[in-house]
Amino acid sequence: MSESLETLLLRLSEAGEPATLWGRQAKPHFGSEFERLLARRILVEQAPATEWPVCASCECGIVARPIQAAGDRHIAPCPYDHRCDVSLDDDDLRSFRIDGAVLIKEIAAASGIGNEPEPTLPGVWHFGPFGSKRTIFGAFSISAATQPGLIVAMKALARGQPVTLVAPPLPTSERQHFRQAGIHLVAVGDAIGHNGSAWALDPSRLVPEIVVAPRLVITRSAKFVSLDDIDYALSDQTFKLLCLLAARARSDQPFAATRDIEQEIWGSSLHRVSRSARDVVRELREALVAGASDRDAVRRLIENQRNRGWRLTLVADAIDLRD
Ligand SMILES: [Zn+2]
Repeated sequence: MSESLETLLLRLSEAGEPATLWGRQAKPHFGSEFERLLARRILVEQAPATEWPVCASCECGIVARPIQAAGDRHIAPCPYDHRCDVSLDDDDLRSFRIDGAVLIKEIAAASGIGNEPEPTLPGVWHFGPFGSKRTIFGAFSISAATQPGLIVAMKALARGQPVTLVAPPLPTSERQHFRQAGIHLVAVGDAIGHNGSAWALDPSRLVPEIVVAPRLVITRSAKFVSLDDIDYALSDQTFKLLCLLAARARSDQPFAATRDIEQEIWGSSLHRVSRSARDVVRELREALVAGASDRDAVRRLIENQRNRGWRLTLVADAIDLRD
C-alpha cells in the first residue's frame, strides 16, 4: 500500500462534498485505524451499492448498470457487450462517506488545538491562533478554498494577525490571489502528518520561510562586489581576500587564518611576499568602510579573533557568491 489512509482521505476530499471512499480503495486499509475512523464517524458507511457506473469504453447508452447477484459474488452487466461485465465482491459494493466536519475536529485534536474549529464559510474552518502568532484556516476541497469572499472572511477573523490557509494544491492564478493578499498557503499534504501523529498539523510548516535578501553580492568572473546595494571597485588583493572570506562564511569554517589568506592571495609566489595578510585585511576594511552609508556597521563586518584569523560577520544567507 503506497498511500497512507490519511493521505487517501485528504486526497479524496479535494473534489468536495460528498467525498466517498469506495470499498476497493478502502480494503488495503481495513484494520484498527479504519475501525477507529468508523467509530469516530469520520467515515460513515453507506448502504451497499445497487448500481455501477457504465463502462468507459462502450456506448451502451444507459445511465448506470444495475448490480445483479451472481452466486456469492455480484455482477454489473453491460447490456451491449458481455465482455464488459464487471464482477464485484461484497467489499466492492461498500462505500464510506468522508465527513469533512468531523475530520477537521480530529485534526485539531491531534494537533493539540483546544477549541473545536469554527466554520468560516462552507468547507472552510478557522483553527484560531496556533503554534505562532498566526491565525490558521483549513479547507480540504478545491472549491471551498477558491470560493468568493474567502480572503475577506479570513482577514476579518484574523484581526490583524498574519493568516495561513491549509488547502489542496491550487492553480497558479488562485495562488497569486492569496499571495497578493499576504496569505500564506500551505498544501494539506505538507502541513499534516509530519511530526509523529498521522493527523497533526506541524506548526513549523505553517509559517512562511523568511527570505533574506543578500547584503553582499560577489561575482568572481566580473570582479563585481555589491554591499548593501553599493557597488565597490576593489584591488586584486582585496577582492581575492573578500572572496575567500565570503566562501568561508558560507561554510562551517568561517575563519581564514593568516596562512590561508597568504595562500589565497600570493599562492606559489608566497616567498616573494612583501606585505602581511593583516595589511590586506586593513585595506579591504578601509575600502568597504569608505563607500558605506553606515560606516560603523561595515567596520564590524570583518572580525579578527586571536589564533583563529578573520571572518565576515554575515550569515550565509546574506552572502551571494557566484562564479
Ligand atoms: Zn457497456
